[in-house]
Amino acid sequence: MFYKPVNIPYYLLQYEAYARRLRPGSLMNSIESQIKNYRAGYNGERSLEPMLAELPDKNFLIFHDLRLSNNLYFFQIDYLILTSAFFLILEVKNIAGTLQLNFATHKLTRSYNGKIETFQDPTVQSSILCQQLQDWLSIHFNSISDIPVLDLVVFSSPGTYITFVNGTPEQEMGVIRGPAVKQKILSLTNEYGAASLNSKIFKNLPEQLLVANHPKTIDLIANKTVQAEELIKGVRCPSCSHIPMTRIAQNWHCPICGKESPKAYISALEDFRLIYGPKITNRQCKEFLGLDSMTTSKYLLRSVHPTSIGKNSNRIYLLK
Ligand SMILES: [Zn+2]
Repeated sequence: MFYKPVNIPYYLLQYEAYARRLRPGSLMNSIESQIKNYRAGYNGERSLEPMLAELPDKNFLIFHDLRLSNNLYFFQIDYLILTSAFFLILEVKNIAGTLQLNFATHKLTRSYNGKIETFQDPTVQSSILCQQLQDWLSIHFNSISDIPVLDLVVFSSPGTYITFVNGTPEQEMGVIRGPAVKQKILSLTNEYGAASLNSKIFKNLPEQLLVANHPKTIDLIANKTVQAEELIKGVRCPSCSHIPMTRIAQNWHCPICGKESPKAYISALEDFRLIYGPKITNRQCKEFLGLDSMTTSKYLLRSVHPTSIGKNSNRIYLLK
């Protein structure tokens, strides 16, 4: 059963909000190419969801995308699967093409569309994650340090063909393709045994993992990738993507394609939240939506039911 379901990472939604508000150019290209990589990674993870969902609910607790901290640094796990006999990390790679994994040089070489590229050996990364999770567990759940933490690298793309060089049978068994994931997990269950998740640790650990999860967020203005002035303000046309639409008689009109969309401002407020965070004043809302009137701005802002703190002109709304 999915204890933490598969969801698109928040930082990816943030990147996409920035991309929607940049003018064409090298900065936009570089952000879009990052989005493409992150999307591919997420799609690879998501492609395993139906197979993992078939694992018996009473024996498997599944977490998608956990980011935990060992005091000084964060580590991110694509999937963590808890059973009563072992914990399993899945490190998912969405890399299409013909791959060769060399366990001696720790290089993954990909040949695709006539191009050769080299990546780091993902089994190294996955065994580091294993150690990091063991450290985390020993700090927070000392009593369960005897449960083995296993890791698998899963190549999710159906268009991946992989060969191994210099690997031991054990090393090679730690790398599988997406369609084999369910069978592999069931065979680990046969090997290690796994009973129902009714022992005491399962009362606390799942919830503690959620509490300890710190999703990655980005602030491209603070880290100086984007200058605040480069971001285009205004309501975006849902039909042709033009910014800004114009507010006329309680409706939003697109000057380019002529589309009218009374609710188009909602996605603009969503972009604001993803880029600047949930706090917004009525003045910021008026400016971001490109309105002339504070009253209209307040009306539209309140229509999305934010909570608020402070009073009158000092009031700060918190976008959901
Ligand atoms: Zn339009």
